[in-house]
This record gives sequence, structure tokens and C-alpha cells, in this order.
Amino acid sequence: MSLIKIQSTKLFEKAKTLMPGGVNSPVRSFKSVGGTPHFMEKGDGPYVFDADGNRFLDFTASWGPLILGHSHPKIKDAVINSVEQGTTFGTPTKRENTLAQMVIDAVPSIEKVRFVNSGTEATMSAVRLARGYTHRDLIIKFEGCYHGHGDFFLSNAGSGLATFDQPSSPGIPKAVVESTITVPYNDLNAVREAFEGNPSGIAAIILEPIAGNMGVVAPSDGFLQGLRDLCTEFDAVLIFDEVITGFRVAHGGAQKVFNVLPDLTTLGKIIGGGLPVGAYGGKAEIMAYIAPEGPVYQAGTLSGNPISMAGGIATLKELNTDGLYEELEEMGSYFADGLRQVAAENNIPIKVNQFGSMVGLFFTDSDINNFSDVANSEIETYNSLHGYLLDNNIYFPPSGYETFFVSTAHSKEHIDAVKRVFGEFCAGLG
Ligand SMILES: *Cc1c(COP(=O)(O)O)cnc(C)c1O
Repeated sequence: MSLIKIQSTKLFEKAKTLMPGGVNSPVRSFKSVGGTPHFMEKGDGPYVFDADGNRFLDFTASWGPLILGHSHPKIKDAVINSVEQGTTFGTPTKRENTLAQMVIDAVPSIEKVRFVNSGTEATMSAVRLARGYTHRDLIIKFEGCYHGHGDFFLSNAGSGLATFDQPSSPGIPKAVVESTITVPYNDLNAVREAFEGNPSGIAAIILEPIAGNMGVVAPSDGFLQGLRDLCTEFDAVLIFDEVITGFRVAHGGAQKVFNVLPDLTTLGKIIGGGLPVGAYGGKAEIMAYIAPEGPVYQAGTLSGNPISMAGGIATLKELNTDGLYEELEEMGSYFADGLRQVAAENNIPIKVNQFGSMVGLFFTDSDINNFSDVANSEIETYNSLHGYLLDNNIYFPPSGYETFFVSTAHSKEHIDAVKRVFGEFCAGLG
């Protein structure tokens, strides 16, 4: 059975004549899974609807922001009310105070915050601030973590551990990534080696405290605390990129769950409730280096714009409901257990990594602790699964390196539907 895809196919053909690859962000093109992307027109709770009228049960959640599902009535009302009062003023507004206070109250390490327009802007700005504050240039990042498309993040590890990086995209000056050191996730020794090779050169470590851009990979025991200790020992800034995990794994993010405090935190996705947003914040002493209070420059015409702030405030208010994260955790583990059970019944080796409402599925029998583990799993099988699920009206992310997101709009019946279709797929593999 295949879905009718007449309108999406037509729209994609037209889009390709207008925009590179027909899209405004590469993964949307279905290049990695194959096939034609569905052009979505509407979202409602757990569902999205495409231009041909097909309805899908959605676990992509626009890549993370939609923790309350699509078209949540409270967010919709807040945004509409905001638009009625004007769209942007280029001045301070009260809503920025409100959202800033909510973020500061929720995230343990944030004393002051600056709003920007995307997660990419947040990570670029946080690194600039760390460099300005420490008067150092080098940064350490981890293979398989994603921090947006800033130049110095688009690099691959050099030839040996703790050597300087190579550009991973044309258009990135070699000199820019020579200040980036990429090491394997969960490898504390490699980080120590990098520090010992450059004892007064490293400005910052940046990482996803729970990786969500290579499926889901949790930090191993003591990893985050070990990074905290190394940053303290070598006077470097620890940056948690919580663009996914912020308000996703707990109201206070991964730093609250693991009880390890970074110096700076980047946020995005959920804090805009589906509108464009990003933020970075942390210790007041470090944030004081940002202009106009301090010398490190960073600005934005639409930063902290009233519509995104309204979406964020409405979302964070809803997320402050007692028991909400416990319910999401229960649903996430129901999802993960269901996939494991169905695969086991069909003798298909899989690993499911789950953390709260984040779920990652890998076709392998090896544990997944870093990017090379992910790369060694059978991504091709995920790609076939993706197509099979789509044909059965279930929308998983169009790449084997992504997280499935459970929202408060999902129920056990929705997950049972996935289990049923996943079972058919597994039976076909056997
Ligand atoms: C999505 C993401 C970003 C980039 O955010 P954009 O809003 O897409 O620029 C940065 N870091 C992490 C961890 C992300 O998942």
C-alpha cells in the first residue's frame, strides 16, 4: 500500500526550481531516507496533515519544539493575541522580562539570559562570549553532537585524538576550524588529553548533555561531572547546549536531572513554542561581558520579538504542570519498551535509547555510547522503516540520526499503533 502523493510530488518539483534541493533546511528533503518529502499543511495534537489530505501520527515534532503537540489551544491564543498588538517594535517589551524570569527560575545555572532567533545563533554567541571572557580561542566539541551551522562547529576531528579539526563543509576557512578540537562523546580521557596539550588555550567545552542528534545517547556515569571538574581545573567555560533537552527532559533541563551546573547554557526549540527563538544564559559574571554591559558584541533586529516570547511564555506555563514530566517519561518508556518487545518477538536485534520523551532506535545488537557506535548500526534498515511507517501514516524523522519526540498529545493508543506497524515491518525483515 502506498499513499497518494500527487500534490506533494508537484509541490516538490516546483520547489526544486525555486530553492536549493527544494527546501530551506537540508534534512527536510528526504535525501537520506529517499523518496519525496510530504508538504505539510496542518497540525493538530499528535497529527500532521499533508497537501494530499493524508493524516500522520507525528513523532518528529518539528524537530523538538512541539512538546505539547501541534496547534495547542493556549499557545495559539497567546500568539494570536500577541499579533493583534503588533508584530515587532525593536524596543524592549514586558514579555521579554516575563520569559527571562521563567527561564531563570527554571534552569538552575542561568542567572541572566539573552534571547536570539535560533539555536544556531545561541551556540555561536555563547562560544563568542566564552572566548571573550577567557581571552582564549580553542573550543572542544564532541563527535555526533550538533550545535547548528556556525562555521567553527562544521568540522571533523583531525587525524589523531585531541588534534585540530578539518572543515566538514566547503566554505569554512581552515583557520576557523583549527580552533576546534573534536573528541568522541563519553570519552573523558580524550578531553583531558586535549586540555593537557593546551593547558591555557581552551576557552570552552560545548556539548549536548544528552545527545539528541545521533539518535539518543546519554552521558555515561560521571562524564558530565568529569567535564565540569576539568573546566574548573583549567579555567575553561562549560557550555551545555540544551536546545533540545531544555524544558524537554525536565523543567530545568539535563543540568537539573544530572545535577551538574554548566557556566553557560544554550536554549531554543521548546522555549519558543514553535516560533523562531534561541537563548543563551548563565552566570551573571560571565553574561556581564555581553554588550551593552560588556565588550562582547551580539545583537539582533528581531531578537526577543513579542510573538516568539508569547509562544514561549504560553508553553513554559503549561510545562509547569505537576506530574507532566513524569507522564512524558512514562510514555517514553512505554514507547521504548514496546519497540524492544516487538523486535524481540521477531528476532530483530535493536537497541533503543530513551531518556524521558526522547527515544532513539538503532538496528544493531551493540550498545550505543558514541557516534561511531551509531555509524556502525544499520542506518539502511532505519531508512526502510521510515518509508514503511509513512505508508502506514506514521511520521518518524527522515534520517536515522535523529530523536523521536513524544509529546503530551500522544497517548498509549498512539504508541500501540506504532508497535503494530513496527511489528509488521520486523516480520517482513525476518
Ligand atoms: C536544533 C539544534 C541546534 C540549532 O538550532 P536551530 O534553531 O536549528 O538553529 C543547536 N543545538 C542543538 C542541540 C540542536 O538540536
